[in-house]
Amino acid sequence: MPPPNRASGPDKHARRVSPKSVGPAPSETEVSFCVLASGSRGNASVLRVRRSGSEYFYLIDLGLSPRRIRNDFQNMGIDQDKLRGVFLTHLDTDHFYRGWPQALPGAAPIFVHEMHAEHARRLGVLRRQLTIYDRPFRVGSALDVTPTVAPHDQSGVIALRIDLPHSAGASLGFATDLGGAEAELIDSLSNVDVLALESNYCPTMQAASARPAFLKQRVMGGYGHLSNQQCAEAARLINPRDRLVLLHLSQECNDPRVAARFHAGRSYQLTISSQQKATTWLPVQLTERKPAPAPPPRQLPLFARP
Ligand SMILES: [Zn+2]
Repeated sequence: MPPPNRASGPDKHARRVSPKSVGPAPSETEVSFCVLASGSRGNASVLRVRRSGSEYFYLIDLGLSPRRIRNDFQNMGIDQDKLRGVFLTHLDTDHFYRGWPQALPGAAPIFVHEMHAEHARRLGVLRRQLTIYDRPFRVGSALDVTPTVAPHDQSGVIALRIDLPHSAGASLGFATDLGGAEAELIDSLSNVDVLALESNYCPTMQAASARPAFLKQRVMGGYGHLSNQQCAEAARLINPRDRLVLLHLSQECNDPRVAARFHAGRSYQLTISSQQKATTWLPVQLTERKPAPAPPPRQLPLFARP
């Protein structure tokens, strides 16, 4: 079946306007991003699109219960009828809560990669609710979505690059539950304005934890999650222009202060998501590259000769 909503692939990483035009012009679309919760007990994020006086929303992952998301929406003043779609990175229970198939709003499509479509149907998602893709696609006129398959357990995970042609070409990258950050993923997310990336564990805390050996192996064995070090290295290569949002910190095997240390001195702003509390709305807008911080002055030896 050909995937609906398929569009000719967006020009990879192409900026559509001069980088001097920073921030949305008044008539342009304003996009913001918020992580409602992230961690092994449930993941969900929201993308808010405001345009010409109206607003609508997309969810990335549905790992929280329908009741929890309804409550969050109510507290944040989000009208559930304005939900225009849901992107699923994969179908583990912490990314797709099992109560959702019955609770899904009828009109909002669920975008799944074709490698996850059969699994979604087995979990009770109706065929008509699914929009299946296997390549870059456009959603409405506001989002150009480029998926990349990455290793995670047997079924793999999808990382998303979302380009916003009506927001001066701003972009968001979203990648969680990664066994590794391979070249294709780095290339796909390269230079996004806002990058949401998992920083799951501290290897020392993981090794010292009371977890059984098979679980440690699952997490660290190349098909599980990214460590703080791997996250920092991937972020260095991807080089987000404005902000890095750390996702999916393990409560047992990580500490936000430890994870943050790996990003000290970097040119991007840092936000750390959590399981308990939503982040603020983070703007996704075209950002001029900030100059890299100057290296510390070299200390001249005493009595140095000129
Ligand atoms: Zn997960």
